[in-house]
Amino acid sequence: MARRNVALALGRALTAMPRPPTLPFRTLAPWLRATFGRPVHRVALDAGSTCPNRDGTRGFGGCTYCDVEGSGTGALRTGSDLKQQLAEGIRRVRRRGDDVGVIAYFQSYSNTYVEEGRLGEVLRIVEPYLGDPIVAVSIATRPDCLPDATLAELADLARRIPVWVELGLESADDSILQAINRLHTLAEFEDAVQRAHAAGLLTIGHAILGLPGDGREGARTTADALARARVSGVKVHHLMVLARTQLAAQWKRGEVEPLEPETYVEWLADFVERLHPDQVLHRLTGDSPPEKLLAPRWDVHKNFVRELLSSELAHRGTSQGSHARVS
Ligand code: SF4
Repeated sequence: MARRNVALALGRALTAMPRPPTLPFRTLAPWLRATFGRPVHRVALDAGSTCPNRDGTRGFGGCTYCDVEGSGTGALRTGSDLKQQLAEGIRRVRRRGDDVGVIAYFQSYSNTYVEEGRLGEVLRIVEPYLGDPIVAVSIATRPDCLPDATLAELADLARRIPVWVELGLESADDSILQAINRLHTLAEFEDAVQRAHAAGLLTIGHAILGLPGDGREGARTTADALARARVSGVKVHHLMVLARTQLAAQWKRGEVEPLEPETYVEWLADFVERLHPDQVLHRLTGDSPPEKLLAPRWDVHKNFVRELLSSELAHRGTSQGSHARVS
């Protein structure tokens, strides 16, 4: 279906569907406001990390969907060092108001996979801003990159400010994790979450819906695993085919079928129904710079996906946690 037709069809569907008065799932913005008492925005940072799945320690070539920027900003490669990135990010966020808080978000690559001493250096750069305007630090990494020494360093920071560790699970099926070249297992994810919690850290679990071979049942199983692990936050998005990835080559050969928005929303509703009601949804869909994105090109805004999800759950008479297998 042409992009314009998809948007129109969805628009019609949305108007025809019942809308609940409040969202039947927990989103991030109200949670941030309730937790920090002020609006909070993320500043994405590139600390110059790399990834054991690219340098041969765990594997070569990276996850099939990951581009050369390691799912991040690529800022460091453009010459902006971490101090500059942080100062500029804070200036940008502060244009929204003097009281706006900041989450220092170490996004690119595996941020705990660094040479000895580098994590300490990175944390010292955020030190002057802790409390104001930085209200939390969020570190994205792989489940197999959290040795005890790293956890101890993060635990030390967590005594002063909330620290989130964002861990990619993507799929709860080990054979899918192998096929997309993630090269870690569900058990490693569960172990990392458990040890992070024991160290006093908050956790966010990532999931991708629509990975080749994972299917609708995969979306449900992954939600079950995230609910069982009791990660405090969840980020979920549809599979996106980016230029210069292994997935792009598979897609060009016709081996990958990206999800249409209607299908994604149905699977997403299944997924949300299986999460624990307390878990906060940090993200419900993905976006990528248009020049990098090959497929799917939805032309649908992320708020629209949120509205569609809300309507879908209202139509089913369910909400987040309705089908959770944990209490
Ligand atoms: S683990 Fe993360 S940074 Fe490494 S290849 Fe996979 S998606 Fe990219």
